[in-house]
Amino acid sequence: MTEPEQSSIWKRSRELDRDRRKKTQELMDEYDRNVYYPAKKALQDECEKGRGHHGGKYHDNGLGWHWFYCQSCGARYDVQQHTKFTVEDDEDE
Ligand SMILES: [Zn+2]
Repeated sequence: MTEPEQSSIWKRSRELDRDRRKKTQELMDEYDRNVYYPAKKALQDECEKGRGHHGGKYHDNGLGWHWFYCQSCGARYDVQQHTKFTVEDDEDE
């Protein structure tokens, strides 16, 4: 198989994946807005008011903020800003 054919197949494969993601999002949009997100939010509120968010993975967004994801409900918690970027810092880069 030649390089151009491989490249074309790679491209078409990515396009199929992209189109499927887009279609999935369209099909799930109403359910997510009316069912999933409200239910998830209620569950995360219940977790916070009960035992409280705990454990889970640490995340640093690379923009000066870090937090944990609760191992029970998946909510972000203990969100903290550890670096304050100023206009001067941005101009230096
Ligand atoms: Zn939680």
